[in-house]
Amino acid sequence: MQTVETIASVRSALAEHRRAGRTIGFIPTMGALHKGHLALVRRARAEVDVVVVSIFVNPIQFNDQRDLAAYPRDLARDSAALHAERTDLLFAPTVSEMYPPGFQTEVRVKEVSKPLEGVSRGTAHFDGVATVVAKLFNIVQPGRAYFGQKDAQQVVVVTRMVRDLAIPVEIVVCPTVREADGLAMSSRNVRLDADARRRAPAIKRALDAASRLVESGERRASIVAEAATRTLADAGITPEYCDVVSPVDLRPLESISDDVLIAIAARVGDVRLIDNILVSIGSSAQ
Ligand code: AMP
Repeated sequence: MQTVETIASVRSALAEHRRAGRTIGFIPTMGALHKGHLALVRRARAEVDVVVVSIFVNPIQFNDQRDLAAYPRDLARDSAALHAERTDLLFAPTVSEMYPPGFQTEVRVKEVSKPLEGVSRGTAHFDGVATVVAKLFNIVQPGRAYFGQKDAQQVVVVTRMVRDLAIPVEIVVCPTVREADGLAMSSRNVRLDADARRRAPAIKRALDAASRLVESGERRASIVAEAATRTLADAGITPEYCDVVSPVDLRPLESISDDVLIAIAARVGDVRLIDNILVSIGSSAQ
């Protein structure tokens, strides 16, 4: 595995592969890698010739400077894990490489950035995500890019951006990887104290309770959201949001007539966690 820090060295490392017509798969991350990230790398390894991973804790997508400062970083451990997964190229740029003095361009995906995380963290969060992902796509120019369903709104924002700007990349969405007790793997989980770690799996239980209701025929979104909220309350968790939305454009739903996305954000102890479940009701919708 080759590790590079500059845009110029990514371009030169990939030039020969591109000339030879090899397919390039790309996984953008913020590091502190866990099995969720590595599942994306493994999927790419199985599908493309050249696997490129970026590790960049993107300052412009953090609305909370304490969260940015506390974000876990361990490049040595991450590189060993990526090497073991047969990654070809690791791009780990500095902040000044990505945002040199004078940088002033922003990519904003207007509507789908507004609900859910947009309400909780502000729409600037996804402006930061869209801007960095657009820049990374321009640097790596992959044929495929791999994202986790764990960050459902990010998938919608990036998919919309790629369509709107005609960026020639296929977005591949991979299932959420979980701990044995259901907690979605996240780089932030290491910051949960013992009490919060014990309570956090209630988020998945809440999503499952909501999903079971939809599957058993409940079509009122408010009843579905209430079931999830009750399960969270039993674990002493008050969500920032617990929303039933369209998986296509994240529009809030009142009544469920097609596939739905149920999304939760909650602070557990000191740590803000997000999770979601997609419930497919297909053509049997009532
Ligand atoms: P992050 O480093 O948190 O920005 O995540 C980088 C990529 O890994 C994103 O596409 C995430 O959606 C994905 N990811 C993070 N956690 C998980 C997980 N538990 N399962 C699957 N994908 C994940």
